[in-house]
Amino acid sequence: MANADANQATFPGAIRLFRFRGIDVFLHWSWAIIALIALRTRSEIYESPFWGGAEYLTLFAIVLLHEFGHALACRSVGGQANRILLWPLGGVAYVTPPRRPGAVLWSIAAGPLVNVALVPFTFGAAAVCHFYWADAPNDVLQYLEMVALINIVLLVFNMMPIYPLDGGQILQSILWYFIGFARSLGVAASIGLVGAVGIIVLAITWGNPWLIVLAIFGVSNSWRGLQHARALTKLLRQPRHSYLACPACHEPPPVGMPWGCRCGARFDPFATGGICPACGLLYAQIPCPFCNEVRPLDQWQTGDTIIARPIISRASPLDP
Ligand SMILES: [Zn+2]
Ligand SMILES: [Zn+2]
Ligand SMILES: [Zn+2]
Repeated sequence: MANADANQATFPGAIRLFRFRGIDVFLHWSWAIIALIALRTRSEIYESPFWGGAEYLTLFAIVLLHEFGHALACRSVGGQANRILLWPLGGVAYVTPPRRPGAVLWSIAAGPLVNVALVPFTFGAAAVCHFYWADAPNDVLQYLEMVALINIVLLVFNMMPIYPLDGGQILQSILWYFIGFARSLGVAASIGLVGAVGIIVLAITWGNPWLIVLAIFGVSNSWRGLQHARALTKLLRQPRHSYLACPACHEPPPVGMPWGCRCGARFDPFATGGICPACGLLYAQIPCPFCNEVRPLDQWQTGDTIIARPIISRASPLDP
């Protein structure tokens, strides 16, 4: 899984395990509980508890490789990716790819592609053990088959087109090419909502509490995605400052709304030179209502006319 919310500073209840290529890997304490449950249930499958532990650590390693796939791919296209969190619903790579459909698509697809790349190795190892190692201990064969299965299950699960699973985000970035960001998010989030509700029904039928939690997470994320898509669509229909554009996403800013000052007044910073008409506070940096990037006011100019504007105070963030 990959998450675009890269601004979250800390993870409560998580410890930092290590850093690789400048990417910090955090582990949530609840993995310890999952480890205990896993070891208890796996001990029925294996003769020696060692292989239960090995299987658990391998699951952990496969999830980590998947997340590093996201993080390194995101960096390869010039995005930011500094953290990976391993939590009970799997792993999350905190990635901020550049706001282009191709860059987002590559950053999301690289995770499942790691699992695809692992398929020949995991199945190969199990097949070699099965066919060429006649007196292999049962536990070894069992372990290799389980690892191959785990990798496939993770791949299929992540590729379900349910936003915000990788499959849902891949669908969204492909649609982005054809129908724009706001509508692609709306379509992907709607499919995600229907899919997640379907999974809740399945999870209740199967009595699988882990799947229920995951599906609720999917419903809430899809719902948020849908609200975001609605707000963006509304914003896109508003009149815009045609001679200005966001330096990050190149969308011209809407006229008037949606900026608000700390004092409670709503105003158009592009009409007032960044000064709140109610309290006189100057905003030198303006957040984009489309992509949330915060950029200096004078970078929003597109034409040759550069308006000299004295910067009196450091910017305070506006509430979009
Ligand atoms: Zn992923
Ligand atoms: Zn923007
Ligand atoms: Zn004000």
